[in-house]
Amino acid sequence: MSGGEDDRFGSSSLRANDADLADAAHLWKSAYVHIPFCAHRCPYCDFAIVDESVEGNGDHQRYVDAVVREIEMETSFGPLDAVNFGGGTPSLLSPGRLEEIVGALRRRFGFHSHTEVSLEVNPEDWATGTGENLRSAGFTRVSIGAQSFDEKILGALGRRHGADAGAEAVCSARAAGFRTVSIDLIYGHPTETARSWAGSLDRALDLPIDHISTYALTVERGTALSREILAGATPPNEDTQAQRYETFCEQSSVAGFDRYEVSNHARPGHACVYNLSTWAHGEYLGFGLGAHDHRWGTRARNHQRLDRYFDAIDAGIRPRLGFEHLDVDCQERDRFMLGLRLAAGTPMSEFVVRFLALPEGKRLLESGLIVATGDRVVVTQPMLTDAVAREALSVSSHDC
Ligand code: SF4
Repeated sequence: MSGGEDDRFGSSSLRANDADLADAAHLWKSAYVHIPFCAHRCPYCDFAIVDESVEGNGDHQRYVDAVVREIEMETSFGPLDAVNFGGGTPSLLSPGRLEEIVGALRRRFGFHSHTEVSLEVNPEDWATGTGENLRSAGFTRVSIGAQSFDEKILGALGRRHGADAGAEAVCSARAAGFRTVSIDLIYGHPTETARSWAGSLDRALDLPIDHISTYALTVERGTALSREILAGATPPNEDTQAQRYETFCEQSSVAGFDRYEVSNHARPGHACVYNLSTWAHGEYLGFGLGAHDHRWGTRARNHQRLDRYFDAIDAGIRPRLGFEHLDVDCQERDRFMLGLRLAAGTPMSEFVVRFLALPEGKRLLESGLIVATGDRVVVTQPMLTDAVAREALSVSSHDC
């Protein structure tokens, strides 16, 4: 295959959990664009958002102009293999405004013919013609925040759409010709039953999708959900969530999806390029409120307050809150810890060899939580990946 959008995968049948694909992703270049606006705050969410129900209508055009100016200030990088619009709720912006940002990225850094341009979409923002307009704006992939196909769970999560809206957005996106259509699902709400989760899964796996991201509901400090639990409501149960995850992995595998990262599953040829690149410690630029960068051995992050972000842009400077330079040891440690999330595992490096020779590394090997196979280390129980990464962090020789 040559010159087509499948070149990046070598072949459209290349499995998402292929080790060569994960290693190739280390060299891909990406950009992330953060759109902070939300129509309201979901009760479980602690993200830094601009809640339009509290703060009035967000000034979308001012924000788009600022992001475009930030892109124009950037030095050379690219061409880009992937662009991801996340949030917040990026689909609150009109396709025309989103296109202004896509155009700025294309002009400044260049795209390949295969560049993935992905957008997170809330189902209630999807209307007749949305798919076609987003395709015209340059998007090749949509990730639809369905979260559940059980009306009661959607209500408990504080979502503003019904189950049918999620399914209709998926079918409409498929008809509009996106290369990849993905959905997000949340499992493990205290009111969820095994039957409810099974029903949601059945409906999800019947839809014309290529990719699924699943997340366990977590209780973050300061959220409405955490206040409810402090007041006596039942918290999510970790053992139940582990069962739900296992059920999901089994059923999605039967339906033809490969798990390539703890939370991400795809049909062959449909791994998310941006996801793979970031978990493989590839380089990426971040634009917008609170966005992060990683490139040239440096991590950087933007202001998290909208007024400070606008002030910096108005003054003609990058809206940076801070930088960290990473030496080679820190970079190897970061790549190891991120790569633990990948089903293909993480490649050996001097840092990994040293870690595996330490008591903490030996303990993980002996417990079977990780296996070292030739030139890779793989976590055997994906839901315990964070615990494994904490061990690696605890023996780091210095702060990174
Ligand atoms: S839509 Fe997403 S980002 Fe916005 S409040 Fe809800 S969970 Fe948070």
